[in-house]
Amino acid sequence: MSFADLGLIPELLQAVAESGYTDPTPIQSQAIPIVLAGKDILGGAQTGTGKTAGFTLPLLQRLARHASTSTSPARHQTRALILAPTRELAMQVYESVKTYSKHIPLRSTCIYGGVDMKAQVAELRRGIEIVIATPGRLLDHVQQKTIQLNQVEMLVLDEADRMLDMGFIPDIKRILELLPASRQSLLFSATFSDEIKKLADQMLKDPQLIEV
Ligand code: AMP
Repeated sequence: MSFADLGLIPELLQAVAESGYTDPTPIQSQAIPIVLAGKDILGGAQTGTGKTAGFTLPLLQRLARHASTSTSPARHQTRALILAPTRELAMQVYESVKTYSKHIPLRSTCIYGGVDMKAQVAELRRGIEIVIATPGRLLDHVQQKTIQLNQVEMLVLDEADRMLDMGFIPDIKRILELLPASRQSLLFSATFSDEIKKLADQMLKDPQLIEV
């Protein structure tokens, strides 16, 4: 099974080829068609499995259906939200998003705590479709009204078990309340405690289970 067989569009196949990948990893083969079909995922996957491209590539393709080439910030509302537990992980995901979206007119940014909010606010004002964020800082922006989440079509929760360990579950629940119910959601975790399962129940609709 090649990346083309999975149904990815030429703009993404080109970015994948430029990354030097020849074959999809098992989680990519499983996740890509499910996300492209618009379904939710409950995914058991460690880092190092190619999980990031597994959710980023089809997420970009879903958003590319209605990508705006307008320069007006109003035409670039936040349509995808990717939550990660740490600044390091958020930055890694952001790098992947930038790499794979090279040939698609979608804007992305990364927001995390521990740094001044000003640069992040300026970035958000440009109009950004894909926001990769740590939960606490995202809520700071919500509170300051520097981000709006009511147009979010896709949500990814990466490393949910680490979110739990770091005490982020109340923040995640607050964020879920701000998102449209009609969204598509993906949850990835290396382990599944009862608490993660409860969160998955709240967050996902009829999810497809994948495990690698
Ligand atoms: P991840 O599990 O998403 O952190 O990815 C682990 C590493 O695998 C990253 O350095 C990716 O660049 C790389 N990678 C992802 N997908 C593939 C692929 N299909 N073929 C080769 N390397 C890949």
